[in-house]
Order: sequence, then structure tokens, then C-alpha cells
Amino acid sequence: MEVLFFAVLIPILFLIAVAYINRCKSCGTITYSFRKARCADIDSGKAYLVCNKCGHKVCAGSVDETGTVLWNTGHTGVFLDDGEYKSTGHSDRNGFHSNPIGYSDGSGGGGGGE
Ligand SMILES: [Zn+2]
Repeated sequence: MEVLFFAVLIPILFLIAVAYINRCKSCGTITYSFRKARCADIDSGKAYLVCNKCGHKVCAGSVDETGTVLWNTGHTGVFLDDGEYKSTGHSDRNGFHSNPIGYSDGSGGGGGGE
């Protein structure tokens, strides 16, 4: 049964280690990486992760004027008009080619939407 024991233990230890590494820099809560909130300051073009325990904000991505967020992790999402955050996936989910992320691709702006 030792194999089963390690098969369970190692992923748990890994999760704890990841949570510990990603703990809130301000209050140290390790649930931060699972329970953090998100907010964006469109005026400054920055997206933040917010500790829902102490409110500490960390700039973790960029946001454009439409509310579309590109996180430093490569994930993408959008802030809706009511402030709700919705994940839209990963910026390189169309393949593992080294496509540059489309910062300069969307010139003209404002044409998106419905
Ligand atoms: Zn905190």
C-alpha cells in the first residue's frame, strides 16, 4: 500500500507547496491562491489579484479599455459591465506555436463587442 500512499501524498504536498509559494504577501494566508478575487483599473491599464482576507492587491496583468484582461500567467478574461470577472481561457490555447501575444494586433480598438 505504500505506492498508493505516495500517490496520494505527493500531489497533496505539491498542492500545499504551491499554495505556500503563492501565499498572500501581505497577510500570509495560503488559501490566497485558491480564493483570490480579481479587479482591474482600466484607467491605468492594470489588472490586480486581490486577497479576499486582507484586501492586498497585486498587479498581475494588463487590461485594455474594453475590460479584456491578459494575466501574466497567459490566461485571459474579461471584466463585465457589472464588475463581474469572467475567464475566457488561455492566450495560447490555439496551439503551442510561439505566437506573440497580440498587444499590437488590435489597433483601431473599440470595434469589438456584439
Ligand atoms: Zn492577504
